Amino acid sequence: MNGPWMSGVQVRRMEHGQTPIADQLCTACGMHKRVTGRAKVEDFMRANPLAEHRAVCQPKTT
Ligand SMILES: [Zn+2]
Repeated sequence: MNGPWMSGVQVRRMEHGQTPIADQLCTACGMHKRVTGRAKVEDFMRANPLAEHRAVCQPKTT
């Protein structure tokens, strides 16, 4: 791995009756992706979005 690869996925509002929201953020390239809805969030997390993005991430050079 070359240098720090900073990113994360935060899932909110998973309580019963709420609409879950997953936010994926990559500080290397600035990508931000939001998924809403329980089924969509579950599919999104099952697909391992961090590993998936890492494969296609094109970090900005400063
Ligand atoms: Zn990225």
